[in-house]
Amino acid sequence: MKTIGITTTVPAEVLLAAGYQPVDLNNLFIGDPDPDRLVGIAERAGFPQNCCTWIKGIYGACVDRKINTVLCVTTGDCSNTLMLMEVLKMRKFRVIPFAYPDYPDAKEMRARLQALAGVLGTTLEAAEEMRAELAPCRRLAARLDTLTWKDNLVSGWDNHLWLVSSSDFNGDARRYQSDLQRFLAQCRQRQPFSDELRLAYIGVPPVFARDLHRFVERSGARVVFNEIQRQFAMPRPGHNLAEQYSNYTYPYSIFGRVKDIRTELRRRRVDGVIHYVQAFCHRAIGDIIFREKLATPLVTLEGNADYVLTPHLRTKVEAFLDMLERGRRRLGEAGDSVKGRGYGLGS
Ligand code: SF4
Repeated sequence: MKTIGITTTVPAEVLLAAGYQPVDLNNLFIGDPDPDRLVGIAERAGFPQNCCTWIKGIYGACVDRKINTVLCVTTGDCSNTLMLMEVLKMRKFRVIPFAYPDYPDAKEMRARLQALAGVLGTTLEAAEEMRAELAPCRRLAARLDTLTWKDNLVSGWDNHLWLVSSSDFNGDARRYQSDLQRFLAQCRQRQPFSDELRLAYIGVPPVFARDLHRFVERSGARVVFNEIQRQFAMPRPGHNLAEQYSNYTYPYSIFGRVKDIRTELRRRRVDGVIHYVQAFCHRAIGDIIFREKLATPLVTLEGNADYVLTPHLRTKVEAFLDMLERGRRRLGEAGDSVKGRGYGLGS
């Protein structure tokens, strides 16, 4: 199969039906043993210091791995991708744009999928067949998520890793399926986590994912909800591709995300929310909305190009967990709810 780089989660079924193997450039970048090297490639090419690290990492990954065909999402992800796309074009990469509809609408989505299939030389019918082939992977990802929050058998880091990888199934869906099946069987043999604080992680995946999730676990808490990562795995697949990608909340209004987050916070009995924002990212402004609309204590963490938590961020996370723990103890003593606004730490 021919390799095609993707800048975010896209309808992978269409790409696979057309004989392309999608490779998520974000995962290539952050999974690299030396992500700074890839950022350096972009900065030497002229990307400014105050440009989001993910964008620079994506560019560096394309150049470094010689991925010369790239599907760029022009609506529903990131305004920086538009200019990244222009630079890639100038450097003679083959660039294919894809735009999510402005709002979730299955009819409009179907038209976009059909157009993409036409550009890539396949059909929507072939893509639907691919959807059926990927369904077992998506079902396993959903099971992993349930084993995380309901059965308390999976760590927040493992949950993050498997779900974030579902954008391209690590480049090999069959292998993803068998590896995940094996992993879930191992998890079922474990003793459940108990008595830790339950956290939600919302926002784009962090540049310091490995460190953050493990740090909170060492500090007596566990992430039981990775919001966007779960969306990548398509938790509401609907009856067809058009419905599946209309139910996917990330490309559309933040209020759709708020609705999904509120439901999951209640269902998963979450004590506190970590909202991650990337330096120089427009999505950071959404913090205003989350603070107003989520009635759960929330802390905002900003990352830039540090691939581990800085001492300042560690202290901030510890203070947040400490506050949640004190709230939980008071709740135990008073038998009253401490949830609600007034517990959020400023960013
Ligand atoms: S973190 Fe924000 S600015 Fe960076 S690539 Fe993602 S959406 Fe774009």
